[in-house]
Amino acid sequence: MYDIVLKNGLVINPEDKIMSVLNLGIIGNKISRITSEEICGLKEYDCEGLVVSPGFVDAHAHEDSYDEQEGKFKLDITLSMLKMGVTTILGGQCGIGPKDLCQYMDALDQKGHPVNVAMLSAHGPLRNNQGDYDNYKAVDAKIVDAMKIQLERELGQGSFGLSFGIRYIPGLNDQELLGLCQVVKKYNGVAAAHVRGDNEEAIDSFEEFIQIGRESDCKIHLSHIGSMAAFGQMKEVLELFDECAASGMDIAADCYPYNAFCTDIGSATFDEGFIHRYGDDYSKIEMTEGKYKAQRCTKETFLETRRDHPEYLAVAHVMKEEEVDMALKHPRTILGSDGILSNGNGHPRASGSFPRFIREYVINKEIVSLYTAIEKMTYQTARRFDIPKGSLSIGKDADITVFDLESIRDTATFSNPVSNPEGIKYVFIRGELAVRDGEILRKDLGKSVRKLT
Ligand SMILES: [Zn+2]
Repeated sequence: MYDIVLKNGLVINPEDKIMSVLNLGIIGNKISRITSEEICGLKEYDCEGLVVSPGFVDAHAHEDSYDEQEGKFKLDITLSMLKMGVTTILGGQCGIGPKDLCQYMDALDQKGHPVNVAMLSAHGPLRNNQGDYDNYKAVDAKIVDAMKIQLERELGQGSFGLSFGIRYIPGLNDQELLGLCQVVKKYNGVAAAHVRGDNEEAIDSFEEFIQIGRESDCKIHLSHIGSMAAFGQMKEVLELFDECAASGMDIAADCYPYNAFCTDIGSATFDEGFIHRYGDDYSKIEMTEGKYKAQRCTKETFLETRRDHPEYLAVAHVMKEEEVDMALKHPRTILGSDGILSNGNGHPRASGSFPRFIREYVINKEIVSLYTAIEKMTYQTARRFDIPKGSLSIGKDADITVFDLESIRDTATFSNPVSNPEGIKYVFIRGELAVRDGEILRKDLGKSVRKLT
């Protein structure tokens, strides 16, 4: 007798290369059996006609804020993630993360969380913790050494690697990048980067970080490749990827299924000269909050908002659909939402990325198979970062997402970025039901996930 049995669902488990109608038994918080035989459970869920997938793993998440005084997490995005069927996120991306990573992970375990959280160390707080340094200037070797000590402590406590936001800290040079990547290599972690430039700067920006990968022999990961990264030169960048992989480099990328990106209007992304890369057209930029909410910018409204509200999120409708398609199809690309929201405003990727990937790429465009999509949303991501999740194999944590392939779809839009997806039937975290028919039942089942060293 099992505690829970999911009956007659289309079970997809890329770790064991399974895709067939089977019964799945759970005992306690672990997957105990997958079989075509009839099995009984104390609780049984009829999954006929539904897909039973490992809980989705988000390769690129951004909600890392924790109020130490209040002892509270900000949960806007992780609640949206859970409703999408995501059970584990990889946070600490683009060089942005908590000031004290170890304390953050301990707090996750004490308080519980909507989803499981694996973390990368983030370059921004590593640098800022050593003093108040100018993002536009290099730091000296003594500072890099101090950063290495903190990084080593975090990697020793379960961080899966290190992320850089080279775009946001233009002063970051080869010496700082290489010194830190050598520490990541020592722990067999992954070094991820939001690279320095996009469009006509894309190839040079990728070359810069790939060269650090060659010199450090570190695993290299390129963040949100479809957006502020390879867009404009996607074909060339993906060819470069293939060349690097053929020469033995461990290289991969994440991507989200939208043709527009989103970031703070005050960030270095929009520093002087940026508009040239986006076709000298301010109307490609849409404001997400304030008095110009949902309006396309003019030069005047753009400059006014950047001056008065640098913290507002702006959406840039600049990417080409065929390039995003190319990126998502590539065998080395996995799904990462890159979700950010500010007061419920922002980009729909935070509430729609995972269902949208299935709806648009598997069902509507038919350019990715269902099996491959599930692999890119689960096991491939887990394996890339050594996260012990994303699998339905016997003995693994029972993190499971059950969805209806007929009805799964995203409903979030640029004007309503928090609209809930459809078609997510059940989400289990460690054998407990967290979501039923799109409704959240429990938001405290997630914990920190730590790299085993
Ligand atoms: Zn980024």
